[in-house]
Order: sequence, then structure tokens, then C-alpha cells
Amino acid sequence: MNFNFYMPVKIISGKSCVTKNKESFRMGKKCMIVTGKNSARLSGALQDVIDILKDLKIEYCIYDKINENPLVSVCEEGGKTSFDFSAEFIIGIGGGSAIDAAKAIAAFSADNKIKGESLFDNAIEGIPIIAIPTTAGTGSEVNNYSILSLDGQNKKRTFKSPNSYPKIAFLDASYTESMNDKYTLSTALDAFCHCIESYMSPKSTALSEMNAVFAANNIYNILKKGIEQITFEDREILLYSACAAGISIGETGTGFPHPMGYNLTMFYNVPHGFACAAFIGEFIKYSSMNLSGAEKINKFAYDSKLNLNEIISFIPSLAFSASEINIKLKDEEIYVFIEKVKTAANFKNNPYIINENEIKDIYKLLF
Ligand code: NAP
Ligand code: FE
Repeated sequence: MNFNFYMPVKIISGKSCVTKNKESFRMGKKCMIVTGKNSARLSGALQDVIDILKDLKIEYCIYDKINENPLVSVCEEGGKTSFDFSAEFIIGIGGGSAIDAAKAIAAFSADNKIKGESLFDNAIEGIPIIAIPTTAGTGSEVNNYSILSLDGQNKKRTFKSPNSYPKIAFLDASYTESMNDKYTLSTALDAFCHCIESYMSPKSTALSEMNAVFAANNIYNILKKGIEQITFEDREILLYSACAAGISIGETGTGFPHPMGYNLTMFYNVPHGFACAAFIGEFIKYSSMNLSGAEKINKFAYDSKLNLNEIISFIPSLAFSASEINIKLKDEEIYVFIEKVKTAANFKNNPYIINENEIKDIYKLLF
């Protein structure tokens, strides 16, 4: 039952929590807003933040070049923009892509001698970050992971510094209302995968497991109801559950569905949540292949009050039907994918460690 826990993020939640807490933005005289092309504007979060910054007389610039699965080079450029502007803090608004990018940008901005992938070799103390999620999925707002795409390599790598936790996370489900059904579902599936993968990690603790089962049960019930039926209350439950799951993976990391899914995202543009959820049935089956894994996955089912056989078919079916994944992988592609999975940090973070043939079998079975 012993555990250590560190999660230095102040969470402020509820409808209009940003405008109700404007004094929290007083973190310096100048800041840079980091976001994607549309989500910050569509969600209304950008306007709320700009109104506050003007009111508090905080100078700001906007860096809105963050694409899905952000590239290291784009974050480096964002860091330079922030450094040149002398930003004292960063406000990340958007999904996991924008918030992950905000963490890397905060680090590049703090030390302009860091170039490209040397970011990963340095535990840089970045400038402070405020995170405002507009998706309910990654939980990036409450952990220190920044998952970046390596330029020209179709590969993701995690930048993680003890200092890259946001200082404050504002959770207002109104900002997720502009997301379409496809991304609402994909991001909810990502959060659900975080719950199972975290629970099954050898690094799980009583606290990470508690967050994981709380979130899994909540998210699954909304998925069963159907994302088209989603209410504002469901959106709040999804956002808070994704946050709880983000705390869990902050302690444990994810398991093999994540690196296996990265290949679908990087080579076939499959949204992150769908890409991971495609593998969750196989993850449960392989997790049952040794005694410790079988015991733990059954305990997950018991604690979360969910049925494993139903999850095995239901979750991947949602991913395959909603994302219209229709990929037929060639053997040569699978060999490239295996190399990328094998070198990912989280691939072994499961009770049962799949070998190369098993990775191949899983890709061939599903695609
Ligand atoms: P995302 O890539 O941030 O966003 C997906 C799409 O949804 C984008 O086109 C985005 O538009 C749009 N969008 C977001 N919020 C919206 C809103 N409220 N209204 C309308 N459109 C909206 O999606 P995500 O699933 O949240 O993040 C995925 C990324 O996070 C991946 O790179 C993944 O590897 C990473 N991740 C991180 C963690 C972690 O713990 N740090 C965990 C899991 C995954 P814009 O382009 O305009 O923003
Ligand atoms: Fe994820």
C-alpha cells in the first residue's frame, strides 16, 4: 500500500472558472498564448483569456501554429518566439497537442541554447504554464509529459522534466462543447485507455488505481449511452475523469496500446484516442496471459464494475467504426512499426511483455 505522490498542479474547475479566477493569471507582465489553429477560438477560451490579460494589463502574443501531434521544430520555434518576446509565462489552450507543446515551448523559452532533440536530454526548468484544456482526453493539464513528434521520423518521443507540470489547470467543460462527435469520442477513448493501461502498469499505486477505476467507470457509462446523446453534465464528468486518468498516468505511464497506436497516427493520421483504443481488446487478452496480469485485470473489472468481455469488443469497435479505420498493413510496414514500438519507453510497462512476433500478430490480426 506504500506510495509516493507528486502532482504540483492547482486545479480550478467549473463553468466560467477562468473568468471567475482572473487574479490567478497575474504571473508576470508578459505572456505567450500557445494554441492550435481553431480550438482556442471556437471554444471561447481564447477570448476569455484575452479579456483577462487586457484587464490585468499583461502584454501577450499568440503562437497558434500547433498542429495535432506537435513537432519538436514547431515547439522550438515557439520557444524562440516566446524568448524574443520576453514572455514570463505560457498559457496553453487546446487539446493535448497544444498543452504538450506549451510544456516544450516553456522549456525552449527558458533556455535558448537548447536546440531540437537535445530538449529530451535536459531536465530544463521551463517558464510557468497555465493549462486550459478544450478536449476531455489526455489529462496533459495535470502531468509533466509532453509527447512530441520527431521531425522527419514518423515517431513520437516524450519530453518529461520535473518542472514541466502546469502551475494551474482550468477545467471548464463549456470549452469542450465546440468539439465535434468524432473528437469527443476519440478523446474519451484515449482517457479510457489511460485508465486501463495505468491500472495494469507495474508502477501502479493504490492512489493511481483509485483514480483509474473512478474515471474508467464514468467514461464507460457515457460511451455506452452514446456520444451523440452527450449532455453538459456528461461533458463535465468526461473532463474531470480525463483529468483523474491524467493523474494516474502521471504516476505510472501508459502501456503498449500507446506506442502501437502512435504508428497508426504517424503513418495513417488516425486520431490518437482511436489509435490507442484499437489495441485495448488485445491489451486485455495479453494481460491475462500470466498470473499477475490475470489477477490484476480481474481486479480492475471488479473495482470499476465493468465487464472485461464487453470492453474487449466494445471499445475497439467504437474506434474502428467512428474513425473509419480501414488499413491493410503490408509485412514491410509491420517490420518498421515493430522497430518503433520496441524502442518506446512504455512498451514494456505491462504485466505481460509482448515479444516481436506478438506485436506482429496483433497488427496482422487487427489490420
Ligand atoms: P488534439 O490533437 O489536441 O486536438 C485534436 C483536434 O481537435 C484538433 O484539430 C483541435 O483543433 C481540435 N479541437 C480541440 N479542442 C477543440 C474544441 N473545443 N473545439 C473544436 N475543436 C477542437 O487532441 P487530443 O486528443 O486532446 O491530444 C492528442 C495529443 O496529446 C497527441 O499528440 C498525444 O500524443 C498527446 N497525449 C498526451 C498525453 C499526456 O499525458 N501529456 C496523454 C495522451 C496523449 P486545433 O488544432 O485548432 O487545436
Ligand atoms: Fe493518450
